[in-house]
Order: sequence, then C-alpha cells, then structure tokens
Amino acid sequence: MLTALHTRDAFLQELLQAEATEIERRLYLAFPEPNDDQMIQYLRDDMRLENQLFEMALLARGFANHYRRPDPYQVGVIIVGLRHASPGENPWAVMFSANTKPSKNYIKQCGEWWLFEGALKENGHRTLRRILAIHVVGEPRADDVSGPQGVTQITLTPCKICRDRMWAMSLHAPKMVQAKWTPLIVPTTLVKTADYRNLGIRKYFRADELHPFHKEPKAIFSAQAIDD
Ligand SMILES: [Zn+2]
Repeated sequence: MLTALHTRDAFLQELLQAEATEIERRLYLAFPEPNDDQMIQYLRDDMRLENQLFEMALLARGFANHYRRPDPYQVGVIIVGLRHASPGENPWAVMFSANTKPSKNYIKQCGEWWLFEGALKENGHRTLRRILAIHVVGEPRADDVSGPQGVTQITLTPCKICRDRMWAMSLHAPKMVQAKWTPLIVPTTLVKTADYRNLGIRKYFRADELHPFHKEPKAIFSAQAIDD
C-alpha cells in the first residue's frame, strides 16, 4: 500500500525527472556536440538555466532522509554533465539527489555522494564522462571541519569528504573507480551553492577553489569524521 509519503516522493520524482529531461533536450538542441570547456563557461553564464536548476535543487531537498526533528537537515543537489554518447545521441545529463542520514548513528551520505556514485556506476558501467556543474541548495552553517578554523558561510558548500573526493576524482587518483577513464570532475567544474531560504543568496566556486576557501590542503582521502 502506498503511504502519503511514498505518493509525494513518486510525484516529486516524476516532476523533477520531467524537468531534467526537458533541460537535457533543450541543451541538446542548442549544443548537439558540446565542448566541455565552452559548456562550463556557458553554464556559468546562463542565469535563467541556473535559476531553474536551483529551483530544482530546492525541490530535491524533499528526498532528504535525515533524522533531525523537527527540522531535518535537507540538502538538494543537481548535477549537469555529459554522458558517453554515440554520434546522434543526446549526451546531456541532468541528475538530482539529496542527503541521507536516517539516524544519528547512521553513516551520512551527501546528495553529492549519491550523484557521484550514480555517475560512476549504473549496471557496472560509468554513466557520465564529465560533470560540468554541481548545484547545492541547503541550510548554510559553519563547515564541520573549516568552521572551527574561522571559515564562515553564506551558503552550504560541499563537506570535507566531498571536497576531498572531488579533488581525488579530478586527479585521476589511483584506486578510484574511474582510474581507466578521463576524470569525471575537472578543476574548473562549477560548484554553485545557494541558501534554501533565499535562492538569491549564492556563492560560486570552481572545484579547485573549495580547499583554499576552507583553508585546508587538498587531500585525496579525508580521515575526519563528520557528523551530519
Ligand atoms: Zn558531502
């Protein structure tokens, strides 16, 4: 039997998927043979598309499964990337997810984490060849790791685990699933962030700016335990 929650999730899934598919179609019409660097530039500059993607990320927060009550921690994430595609196939990919941590003692999995996993593996195959832009909408707060170092936030930036993972992915690091392929993330991959209470409050990074912003060295793997 479907509960009200399942029905709502199914509706949200359908709504976001329809919107993602429409954006993929539109981007394919505009850019049937996308060049990665040019497309990163395009995604940096197209504010109308950015607004739409942030609105989608806001909705994607509804998929969060976080233990905190009464106000669970909800982070919606949208990525825009390019699939491996044959000539004549649409390479554009718009994917959405949210964070999960169902109980206090449960391991946290960020919206970014779910999307990186999804981008790397689908039936054992890599889904995307490149992530061009990541959009994160959540509740701004001091970062678990850099907050104590005095780094303040107006938006929520990817956590230390995600920062390290993105850096590792961009390096072609050994032991990463993608070692045989070109890097899924590049130093110029856009990381766009916005406050869920006011999507007009935004902050932009390139993937390679995340560590300097958080006043920490770039690391391949994070040993730091993080709460949420
Ligand atoms: Zn994270």
